[in-house]
Amino acid sequence: MKIILLGAPGAGKGTQAAKLVEEFATPHISTGDMLRAAVKAGTPLGKKAKSYMDAGDLVPDDVIIGLVTERLQDDDTAAGFILDGFPRTVPQAEALDNIAHIDAVVELAVEDQQLVDRLSGRRVCLKCGATNHVSQLNGRTQCDCGEPLVQRDDDKPETVLSRLKVYHDQTAPLVDFYEKKGLL
Ligand code: AMP
Repeated sequence: MKIILLGAPGAGKGTQAAKLVEEFATPHISTGDMLRAAVKAGTPLGKKAKSYMDAGDLVPDDVIIGLVTERLQDDDTAAGFILDGFPRTVPQAEALDNIAHIDAVVELAVEDQQLVDRLSGRRVCLKCGATNHVSQLNGRTQCDCGEPLVQRDDDKPETVLSRLKVYHDQTAPLVDFYEKKGLL
């Protein structure tokens, strides 16, 4: 199946995607992960995206639509995929309509206050992608894979609030968009 996971930052899209991937052996396409890899590698895309990401803003639609269009041409996506973090605006959703047939959209709905708590306490492994919350780490600063667990720059408190505002302003309208199509 071709599935979109829709939800605010911290709602659990990455966590649920990882479980679905285990169960259905289908590609997990996370635009956030793709952008972070580009930033780390210092590619032109990464250089362009970094300032938007650090500010908690969205990377421009044309950039992200180009990235996803290219990824969805890969053979491994033919039978199905899980989209995590895309689309995030109505123009992105309209562009996706022209490149793929989506079977279902799953909304993960979480209260804002809980999102703030989750995001500001989130610690991630930049190597294997594991996500933890400080409250469960008991002071541990290393991932099970041996790499350090760190706070993402955009999980700092000042950026978290602007990411939630961006979600409500630009991404939440997609709930209606997909409900009207009977896919939610
Ligand atoms: P995420 O890991 O999904 O929270 O994404 C991290 C950051 O990458 C976001 O705050 C945006 O700056 C950028 N980003 C990821 N996906 C998109 C998208 N579909 N459209 C625009 N920007 C995105």
